[in-house]
Parts: sequence; structure tokens; C-alpha cells
Amino acid sequence: MVPMWDSIGPIDTDIRKFSRNICDAKVFDSFTTNSKLKFLFSNHSLDTINWPLTKSWLEYNETKDICSSEKSKKEAFKIKSLDHILPCGDILTSHYSSLYDPQLLPVKCPICNNVDDTNQHLGFCPELIQPMYDALQEAKEILYNQLTSEINSFFTNATLSRDLEMLELFQPIIDNSHLIYLIIHSIVPQSLVDLVHSHTRKFNHTKKIIMNFMSKIQHLCYNVIWRRHTESMISWEKKHGVHGKKIKLRRAKRRAANKIRKKTPPSRSPTHIVAPPCHSTKIYDSRNRFDDRLRIHYYQCQRTNDQFVPRWIILTTSNYLHAGGWTGLLR
Ligand SMILES: [Zn+2]
Repeated sequence: MVPMWDSIGPIDTDIRKFSRNICDAKVFDSFTTNSKLKFLFSNHSLDTINWPLTKSWLEYNETKDICSSEKSKKEAFKIKSLDHILPCGDILTSHYSSLYDPQLLPVKCPICNNVDDTNQHLGFCPELIQPMYDALQEAKEILYNQLTSEINSFFTNATLSRDLEMLELFQPIIDNSHLIYLIIHSIVPQSLVDLVHSHTRKFNHTKKIIMNFMSKIQHLCYNVIWRRHTESMISWEKKHGVHGKKIKLRRAKRRAANKIRKKTPPSRSPTHIVAPPCHSTKIYDSRNRFDDRLRIHYYQCQRTNDQFVPRWIILTTSNYLHAGGWTGLLR
């Protein structure tokens, strides 16, 4: 059987790569048309962003660990800053509306007490403009030192200072159209990549320098913006009695979770095989190990509320591809 794509023609390339491209395109499309990110894309067009290195930055491991809580926290921060869902006033009040007195809404920025506290306001608070500019100058020096120490060419030594002075990223901050907005939200600006690449001329070298630089500049931004924002927010919440409510809520949630855990029946019988939800192709044996010799039976939705997942997506993304091709699974 030859797979067809939307009745247009046969898929004659590697099906996993083919489906990955489709999924990537779909995710990218939904991301760039997300109404909550309208503010980002109204100030910064798609071509001002280097998407491959932005993806690399989101996946970049800044720690030495393969898996650790520190790594998870850093990754979570990047994703939340990109999606504009860091716990600022707007997100907190929409998730925990009962904690906030209606008279306190909308929550104002805890640093300037003047503008609504949103993800868009991060880094552009009037109180932070000067500290942010100082951080940018420090970042410029870091980039200069890094490039001159790694590339000791006549071209770099002669032109780098001038290039950095002219780079839009290091200009004074006026409003949210400044490129630092992208860095704060874990996005790599194209102009930064162009500058570095004009000196390295090698993609891997450019990538290495950009990852290093992003790590350092985000650390600077974190200290100037997020640390101060969080401390000010906690003081504001304590002042208005929100902090006590939060602690009570957390305690109540923990007790409820403990109760549920105690009520959970003992472990399953050794021969029992659990049917996965309809969007999963993995089947686990009694020891909770994935057994890829078992065939897919559970692709159909069992309940009306379940989200329907087309069978071809399950097939093309399953691990069965390693064992004789996916068409062997069709019955
Ligand atoms: Zn502010």
C-alpha cells in the first residue's frame, strides 16, 4: 500500500521526516497566529527572528546535567517567557482569581505601580530602563571579548567594535519595539546572528557563540527584571494579604492530593495490560515497560469527549517504523 498525501500524490520520502515536517509547520503556524502573541508579532516581524537558532536556544542545555530540577526550571522559564505566560499580574489573576480582591484588579506592576502588570511590560518598566541599558552595555562587552578571543582575524579586529556600536540590539531602549524584547522572551534576533556569522563564517561556530551569549544576556536580564519583579510582587502580595491566601491554597491542594493518593487502589495484577489513551501508541506491560512487539489496537476514541487523532499520525510517529515499515501495521 502506498501512502497518499491528501489525495495529491504518493509520499515517496521517509515518512517520519515527512510527517515531522508537517507537524513542525502546523506548530509553527499555530504559534505565529496565536492571539496571545499578537503583541509580539505586531512589533517584530517574522524575518527579524532567527527561527532555527531560537529553536536551538529553547533546546539548549545550560547545565551540565542530562536531567535535573535545575535544567527543568531553566527550560520551563524559557518556554513560559516565549509564550508570555510567566506569572505576572495578568496570568496570576486569571489562574487564581479568588485570591485577589476585585478592588485590586487589574494588578499594577509592583515596581512602578503605574502600568498593568503583564508579560509585555517585563523589562520595559520605566524604573528598569536604565538598569536594562547598563545590562546591555555589559552584554556588548561580553560579546566583544568572546568574539575577539575566538576569532583573531584582521577583519574582526578592525571592524567588530564599529559593528557592535551600530547593532540595533545595543541601542538605547525606548519602547517594546527594541530587540531586547525578543531576548527577554527567549527569541534570537536575526541581526545578532548576521553580525556573529559575518565574523565566524561557519554555522556551528556561530551557533556556539550565540548559545553562549544568549545564556549570559538572559542571566543579566533575569537578575535585572525577573528577580526584582518577583521580590516586589511578593512584598505587594504580603501587603494586601494575598500571600497568606496562597500558602493556604497550596496547603489545601497538597492535603487533597495526599487524600487521593491514599485512596488509590493497590498496584495492578502482573498480567494486566493497560490500554493507553486514544492519542497514544505506547503500550506498557505489567512492569511498566514499553513493549514495541505489541500492535496498536487503541487508536479509536472510546469516549465522545476524546480528541480524535487520525490513524496515520499514530502510525507515522510510532516506534514501529524501526521494525519493517509502518504499512505492515495496517489491517
Ligand atoms: Zn512597571
